[in-house]
Amino acid sequence: MIFKTAAELGELIASGETTAVEVAQAHLERIEQVEGKVNAFLHVSAERALEQAAAVDARRAAGEELGPLAGVPIAHKDVFTTKDMPTTCASKILEGWVPPYDATVTTRLREAGLVILGKTNMDEFAMGSSTENSAYGPTSNPWDLSRIPGGSSGGSSAAVAAYEAPLATGTDTGGSIRQPAAVTGLVGMKPTYGGSSRFGLVAFASSLDTPGPFARNVLDAALLHEAFSGHDPRDSTSISEPVPPVVEAARQADVAGLRIGVVKEFSGEGYQAGVLNRFNETVELLESLGAKVVEVSCPSFDYALSSYYLIAPSEASSNLARFDAMRYGLRVGDDGTRSAEEVMALTRAAGFGPEVKRRIILGTYALSSGYYDAYYGKAQQVRTLIARDFEAAFGQVDVLISPTTPTTAFPIGERADDPMAMYLADLCTIPSNMAGNAAISVPCGLADEDGLPVGLQIMAPVLADDRCYRVGAAVEKALEDRWGGPLLRKAPAL
Ligand code: GLN
Repeated sequence: MIFKTAAELGELIASGETTAVEVAQAHLERIEQVEGKVNAFLHVSAERALEQAAAVDARRAAGEELGPLAGVPIAHKDVFTTKDMPTTCASKILEGWVPPYDATVTTRLREAGLVILGKTNMDEFAMGSSTENSAYGPTSNPWDLSRIPGGSSGGSSAAVAAYEAPLATGTDTGGSIRQPAAVTGLVGMKPTYGGSSRFGLVAFASSLDTPGPFARNVLDAALLHEAFSGHDPRDSTSISEPVPPVVEAARQADVAGLRIGVVKEFSGEGYQAGVLNRFNETVELLESLGAKVVEVSCPSFDYALSSYYLIAPSEASSNLARFDAMRYGLRVGDDGTRSAEEVMALTRAAGFGPEVKRRIILGTYALSSGYYDAYYGKAQQVRTLIARDFEAAFGQVDVLISPTTPTTAFPIGERADDPMAMYLADLCTIPSNMAGNAAISVPCGLADEDGLPVGLQIMAPVLADDRCYRVGAAVEKALEDRWGGPLLRKAPAL
């Protein structure tokens, strides 16, 4: 049961061959078996999951028309509010906090009949690329338990790669869906900014944060994308255009006649040889499938990482001011002798981890008068140049491609004390956050050196999310023919 795709599970439940309760039970058993090794979840909600599953079965029995994912289990990133489960963002400052309302993404999962198994581990407040910045311990990569599952949505990627759930949610601010998907052999999609709602998503960098799906194949990702995306009047940056035809595109799966641009800036020095080998082979594959492949230069992409590390911390320093010991979660030192300011300072000192503090300090500095123009202002100008590079590139080609990450999954601990090395994991993913366009990562093979998964990134214009799925599905189909099945068959280390 656990090795089936989400689409297959949905069909089996719809046809009455199995029930949502049975499917939920199988996944809860798997969680029992492997969580000790993986640590993908911060909170497992077995009882509620079985209740939700039983409710789907009852709706079905009553003859209600339900969507294709009704009864399918899902792992939900702990950055989305859930009124029946804690929401901590893997931070001590929100330990035990149960929100009074559901995020729009949560509401839509429930409406689609998805069964929420629990909340997944992440880098604290989504800051990181390895899930080591969680206050509740790191998550392991199911391909090799001594390695990171990517981040910040590493609990979600690990849960799906470990077959604890067929689907998961994530959020991508600088790469936090695509990078973990790449290093665990999954499909992970960052929709067009504003295409999926931020209402009830604990904010990191509001102009970049984008919810998106994780799955073990392209069609499943498209089905989940469709289930929770679309206009939300509660999010002021939500776009009102209809959700692009992502499911249709995933089924279309062909690239004949498409123009594909290889981003010149994303190869060479700093890239693992095995990553480049798989990427270059995939370029040849796309040509053999009838795509016209050309090289495209996007010179501003070289400055994307530096400008991101000014803009994201600036927005974070403002967003995280709300954790003031008065409103939510933790309160330290409130013994009747201290002022509100002292309690606030003690709470923030105790409740935030080192990376979160680093970002708050960096962001506050970049926004301070005297430095604002030199840092934040310049970074915003670079952001405009990146958007212009994309615009020029998409005048020539339909999609752009690159490796998703410069390396495969690195060992836990290797970059923990070296923030610069950690930040480099998102080198290729950040431009699409800066410009707000759609981008996906799909598996394209295993690196020669370490036998670990490599991701192909496909970037499409704003609101052309369907192109990511169309090209991703074509690559998936051709590679599965070559491999005789999917890249990920069983979690190799479990
Ligand atoms: N790794 C990047 C960071 O640490 C991106 C995180 C994200 O997308 N949430 O900021």
